[in-house]
Amino acid sequence: MTEQASPPSRVRSLYLALVHYPILDRQGDLITTTITMIDVHDTSRSARTYQVREVCMIHPLETQRELVNTVRKHWVEGSGGKRIPTRTDALSLVTTSPSLADYVAHIEQQEHAAPELWVTAARANKPTISYRDGAELLTQPGPPVLLLFGTGWGLPPQILDQATFQLEPIVGMGNWNHLSVRAACAISLDRLHRL
Ligand code: SAM
Repeated sequence: MTEQASPPSRVRSLYLALVHYPILDRQGDLITTTITMIDVHDTSRSARTYQVREVCMIHPLETQRELVNTVRKHWVEGSGGKRIPTRTDALSLVTTSPSLADYVAHIEQQEHAAPELWVTAARANKPTISYRDGAELLTQPGPPVLLLFGTGWGLPPQILDQATFQLEPIVGMGNWNHLSVRAACAISLDRLHRL
């Protein structure tokens, strides 16, 4: 059995965020989506596996952010974490922010450098880079990277246009490739750690 290549050592800090506003709806209008707790759990476990610094749920409604923080508290400080300590490791990465701009400012304050935005989508909305190029960039010195995923029907142009890079759409067998955000996050993180 061939040894699995060990992932290259990443030099740059990697952050991850799920955007819930602004988000496109089926008609291409802007909406706000609801945070789903399975997204919080799944993306934080993928993030922990690939040593992502933080997983941010971006949502303008305080009640939605409070819900995430309540779930986080249960697994990090409460009975959930005592029962399943490995969940603490993952959920401790979760944070919330009212907007992308606020989260970028938070990262800049924490890292003393503004993050580079990398976006993902099932369609190529702007020139894309391959995951291999992305993995290569992460092994070289540079600012932190904030990897953005959408919800609903995807990230709108006003977010895509802020990005330094769009990672190439993940393509399987054939041309249907509308992955759940959880699946897209896991595949993206794995591919960004394979040279
Ligand atoms: N409610 C849906 C769910 O089940 O998660 C939300 C779908 S949301 C649009 C999926 C997000 O995952 C996209 O905004 C994008 O960030 C990412 N995504 C989905 N399919 C992808 C693909 N083929 N390649 C890259 N990213 C993809």
